[in-house]
Amino acid sequence: MLVLVAGGAGYIGSVVTAALLEVGHEAVVLDDLSTGHRDAVPDGASFVESSLADVGQTLTADAGFDAVIHLAAKSLVGESEQRPELYWRQNVGGAMDLLDAMRVADVRRIVFSSSAATYGEPDTDLITEDARTEPTNVYGATKLTIDRMLAGESRVHGLGAVSLRYFNAAGAAYGLGERHATETHLIPIALQVVTGDRDHLSVYGTDYPTPDGTCVRDYIHVADLAAAHLLTLEAVGPGEHRIYNLGCGSGYSVREVLTAVREVTGHPVPDQDAPRRPGDPARLVASSDRIAQDVGWAARRSLTDMVRDAYEVLQARGTP
Ligand code: UDP
Repeated sequence: MLVLVAGGAGYIGSVVTAALLEVGHEAVVLDDLSTGHRDAVPDGASFVESSLADVGQTLTADAGFDAVIHLAAKSLVGESEQRPELYWRQNVGGAMDLLDAMRVADVRRIVFSSSAATYGEPDTDLITEDARTEPTNVYGATKLTIDRMLAGESRVHGLGAVSLRYFNAAGAAYGLGERHATETHLIPIALQVVTGDRDHLSVYGTDYPTPDGTCVRDYIHVADLAAAHLLTLEAVGPGEHRIYNLGCGSGYSVREVLTAVREVTGHPVPDQDAPRRPGDPARLVASSDRIAQDVGWAARRSLTDMVRDAYEVLQARGTP
């Protein structure tokens, strides 16, 4: 297939692009480089620096695209609460531009990077796709809106669409890892302590109703995420909108993640208790049974793999 990867210069998008190329697909990466990196675009993919507003210039009827994987989005929860207009414009407006261009060019397959943030804070041990969607921040609301747009586009115009609701992406693959200008995520921040870029990690909240009092999340290796994109891209048929949760089905607390980072790196990683971060639910763990049953996907890589692979890429790159 010839696949347009919108957001393919970002963390997850670059790994998805590398995975596509590895199995013989062709990829064109479209990215405005607002948060992505040109050097993250894998060799072998074409690159177009463009915003989604202009995607119609690339995604033309003559270009021969078979499918789109859409990962181009603003993705900082805190920022989405400070600048909601930016998130609605970029995420929802961008998806509308992309769907318009796909309709005009008659490209009839899309895999979209949705998010566990669409659910909000469900009061359940394992979150299935049937859980109520009540996002608690603008970021999650934009992702849910796009999921609904895809449902309509499938029903009315016959698009084959997949919404992949990622839980906590982590790790690295193909030499590609997380590189955010503003780092908010737990594992990269812990690794910044290891590399000496921070002196400690703040544990946000130690009084949650969890076994050790810290938040529990479902961490999922970026290579496992990439595999899910490839499988569902092949599987989805016209007029379908599939929604799949992507996680390991097991949760780790902040303290358990820190233990894994200490074990993998041999660094003490000093931590300090800190107040809760506003908007953090106590526990978010996925049921990924639906995608397992439908396309045989399962997460294969462990938390240790995620930390080790992220650390290796960081070491190879040197500190920023
Ligand atoms: N966290 C923390 N210290 C940090 C960064 C994150 O204690 O410096 C916690 C955060 O409160 C959450 C978990 O680690 O409970 C995962 O946070 P992350 O930002 O990686 O992902 P999120 O679940 O918020 O998408």
